[in-house]
Amino acid sequence: MAQIDDLPPLREVIAAHGLDAKKSLGQNFLLDLNLTSRIARTAGDLTGHTVLEIGPGPGGLTRALLANGARKVVAIEKDTRCLAALAEIAAHYPGRLEVIEGDALDIDPVAATGGGPVKIAANLPYNVGTQLLLNWITVADWPPFWSSLTLMFQKEVGSRIVAKQGDKAYGRLGVLAGWRSHAAMAFDLSPKAFTPPPKVTSTVVHVTPRQAPAPCDLAALEKVTAAAFGQRRKMLRSSLKTLGGDTEALLGKADIKPTARAEEIDVDGFVRLANTYSATV
Ligand code: SAM
Repeated sequence: MAQIDDLPPLREVIAAHGLDAKKSLGQNFLLDLNLTSRIARTAGDLTGHTVLEIGPGPGGLTRALLANGARKVVAIEKDTRCLAALAEIAAHYPGRLEVIEGDALDIDPVAATGGGPVKIAANLPYNVGTQLLLNWITVADWPPFWSSLTLMFQKEVGSRIVAKQGDKAYGRLGVLAGWRSHAAMAFDLSPKAFTPPPKVTSTVVHVTPRQAPAPCDLAALEKVTAAAFGQRRKMLRSSLKTLGGDTEALLGKADIKPTARAEEIDVDGFVRLANTYSATV
């Protein structure tokens, strides 16, 4: 195992602090600092950056982010049992680790980090991962407060995030991510990499913001993608009926074939559809 700092091995940390993994908190820990260092490196040059980490747990990724040069790590953790272990890391890197106890869904990331440049890196709890990603991708101010997201997901979720028109996994998540960002899978991790092992393969997704995404009404984009992919096997002239109004006219104005299915429409097409829809309601 890589010696990235003089702190004790993570197995010892877990034993010393009684951090038995809780399923309800999505706790699948990474204990191999080689792997957490690989995730930290995927986030790019951390020097001069504040890194926001969600769910540091016993601190394997936290330690890698700090060892890889993050100016500061702000880590939000819901499980109070982890705080003492994280305090030991903070003592080892004076002034560079701030731990916020709480639920990441309730905490304003901009206020927590004090503004940019911020990189977000996390082995996300599976039950809130997609919602957190959507929160970051749909923030009102754009370009956003973050300059990259380096995030662990179940591979199936990762596939949906990076999916493009025509891909089996293409849907609402791929459209929203594709509208505002470039997303790519960096590498996979087998269940064996985690303690305890989850049932499925995981993947690290790296996301960077588009500097000038096409202007689009987010609420309308959410609505048209929900309608289109809600009945993905149907032609749009049929699936979009749930939006009300004249579906054929809407598709015509947006320059989309009424016989097309959702998976055939690229992100630009959905943006046109959303903007046309919001102009008509
Ligand atoms: N980063 C550690 C690692 O890689 O070993 C732990 C990752 S584990 C998959 C997810 C972590 O997120 C756990 O420490 C869990 O307690 C924490 N967590 C779960 N739900 C959370 C929430 N809503 N807000 C903040 N942290 C949460």
